[in-house]
Amino acid sequence: MHTRSIVAMMVTALLLPAALGACPVTKPLRVLLVTGGHDFDRDGFSALWHSMQDVTVQEVSHPQAQAWFAKERSKEYDVLVFYDMYQDISEKSRADLVALLKRGKGLVVLHHALANYQAWDEYMKIAGGRFRLAETERDGLKRPASTWKDDVTFRVNVADRKHPVTRGIGDFEIVDETYGDYDVLPTVRPLLTTDEPTSTPTIAWTHTYGRSRVVTVQGGHGPSAWQNPSFRRVLEQAVRWVAGSSR
Ligand SMILES: [Zn+2]
Repeated sequence: MHTRSIVAMMVTALLLPAALGACPVTKPLRVLLVTGGHDFDRDGFSALWHSMQDVTVQEVSHPQAQAWFAKERSKEYDVLVFYDMYQDISEKSRADLVALLKRGKGLVVLHHALANYQAWDEYMKIAGGRFRLAETERDGLKRPASTWKDDVTFRVNVADRKHPVTRGIGDFEIVDETYGDYDVLPTVRPLLTTDEPTSTPTIAWTHTYGRSRVVTVQGGHGPSAWQNPSFRRVLEQAVRWVAGSSR
């Protein structure tokens, strides 16, 4: 190689960072927030999302929301967050959601979204668990409806301190709604647990569905959880981490 071209390459290498700009612009992470079928404090929830740096949120509600599961519309967002509690889902939307997750779109299942789509068993495999709205029979076993209790003050234990979703977070206390006796698939990786008797022990977990990173967080009923710094951090780190599998 000629000396001149080596010099030219060096100059290019030196100029390149300047050409890209001294302050690289971070592309915001685009969250598609799916709601509908369950009320919530809209102002408080909106404040929680707007407190996150470089995160934009587009809310879509049922019955229109499932249109965003289609491949063409999935380009409009990086991460799906389910905060809905909804039962109707067409065969097409089921197939669209499964295909979306097989491609790797990151998903966070939050609170009452654990009770979505009771008649569709695949949803339990997607969320890694299920809140049973009524007595349910599975594998020949009858299970009673899951339970819930509002305004419980309880201790949350970090089960996996090395995971990116829980990194930097110590055990903490929270006031939130607990769910009891819900299903958690044995194959998930627990992130948060509790000894609170009104709650199922595993209250946040992760697993992979298709190519997608999925994080499910049981808590998050209202402002007392949304304003809890540890809860906020878990949610924000969950959203950022699941984005890692999105395409
Ligand atoms: Zn709730």
